[in-house]
Parts: sequence; C-alpha cells; structure tokens
Amino acid sequence: MNGRDGAAPPASRFAASRASGVRRSNEPLVRLFHVTKSYGGGNVALRDVSLEVRKGELVFLTGPSGAGKTTLMKLLFAAEKPTEGQILVLGRNVGRLSERRVPALRRRVGVVFQDFKLIPTRTVEQNVALALEVVGRPPREVRSKVFAMLRRVGLQHRRHDLPPALSGGEQQRVALARPLLNDPAILVADEPTGNLDPELTIEIMDLIAAAAARGTTVMVATHDQNLIRRYARRTVRLEAGRLVEDRPAGGGR
Ligand code: ADP
Repeated sequence: MNGRDGAAPPASRFAASRASGVRRSNEPLVRLFHVTKSYGGGNVALRDVSLEVRKGELVFLTGPSGAGKTTLMKLLFAAEKPTEGQILVLGRNVGRLSERRVPALRRRVGVVFQDFKLIPTRTVEQNVALALEVVGRPPREVRSKVFAMLRRVGLQHRRHDLPPALSGGEQQRVALARPLLNDPAILVADEPTGNLDPELTIEIMDLIAAAAARGTTVMVATHDQNLIRRYARRTVRLEAGRLVEDRPAGGGR
C-alpha cells in the first residue's frame, strides 16, 4: 500500500483545496497522488507513487541510485512536473503551478543539496543573506536574522570567511542556514550528508532534526543506513521509481 491511510482522496478534494487556498490543520503538507514521472526516451523515474507527509514529520527517502529520490524532491519545489498524477504541496497543485507562482512556493520550500551550492566569492554572511535579499527584506532585518541564524548553526565566528576556506561540514551548515532563514514550511534535503564524514553527518542531521522539531516538515534523501537507524524516523523506500516500503518512525530496522 502506498498512501499512508491507503484511501485515495477524490479528485474534487484537490480542486476544493486549491480553489480556497485554505488547508485544514491536519491536512498533509505534501501529498502525492498516483504520481508518475517520465523523462522521455523510456526513462521512467517515478511510477504511480502515492505519499502523504504531515506537518513537522521528518521523512527519510531511501533507495538505490537511480530509484527516483531526486526526482521526487524536484517535484516538490516545482523543478520538474509530474507526467501523471497530482502533487499538492501546502495545498497547491504544484504540477500546474504557473511560472509566476514558483518563487512564492520556493520561499516556503527550502532546499539543500549534497554539493552545498554556495557562492565561492561571497562570504558566509553574504551567502546566507542572499536568501532574504532576493525576497526584498530590508538590510537591518537581513543583518539581524543572518546573525541569529549563524549562531543557530554555530558559524558566527566564520561569518567573514569565503566558503572555500571552510570544512565540508561548515559549508553544509551555511547551505542549511540559507533556507532555514526563510523559516520554510518544508525542507527538502537531497543527500545533505553525502560528502561528509560520519561525525559531521551527525552534526548536520541534528540541525535538520532540530528544524523538524520546530515544526518544519523535512524530507531527507539518503543512502546512509546508519543515519536512518540512528534517527529512527519514518522511512520511505523507492526502487526503480516505485514506492516499495513506508516504515513509520521508530518502526525498527
Ligand atoms: P536517485 O535520486 O534515486 O538517484 P533520480 O531521481 O536522480 O534517482 O533518477 C531516477 C531516474 O531518472 C534515473 O534512471 C535517471 O537516470 C533518470 N533521470 C533523472 N533525471 C533525468 C533527466 N533530467 N533526464 C533524463 N533522465 C533523468
């Protein structure tokens, strides 16, 4: 069974939710409904995937390379569109989102990648500030929020350094500070610890888990079975584009 409750919602509920823009408080923040994604040339990345994720949940997305994890995450922030099926993120049908509405979605859905994606010629502070500057926040607010966020991720002492001078773990903390600054409803992290050694992996994962504890809904794609065991959160497994397992938090090995 793919969906958490197994019940397929009638299509009209999607329409109603989209039309009103109002979500019931217990409604999942992320809902995939029979989603298939083909890239063409016979490359099917996701096959009939249904999934619901609720507010404040931390979900590990696992499975071998090529299973469709990145594709699933890209669908959540409208970097790709589903070929079939529907995806609701924060009550919006993201498969049908107009280009004009994508930036508003991305302010609420933060993203972290394995390779950090920092700007090497800007300081730590400037890299983090960018998240607020691009949405037009006043400089005073940017300064105070950036300072508070750098403290939260333990990097205030490195604020004037350039990313290449930082360790991998520090770079990933900067990369994480950026979306967290917008207090996203959803945080999507694609192999965020893939380039880090085990100690730094825990450091970053603790920051991600702390964001979930503050109410952010988090999805973390990872191959790292040690990480999955250690945190014992809900774990969704993909294989060849199919959702083959949905194990609840604390659900054993
Ligand atoms: P994972 O993140 O689990 O490694 P991906 O979502 O990256 O899996 O890839 C799933 C499948 O989709 C793979 O077969 C991959 O080659 C294919 N794929 C991913 N992105 C593209 C793309 N932009 N164009 C064509 N095929 C793609």
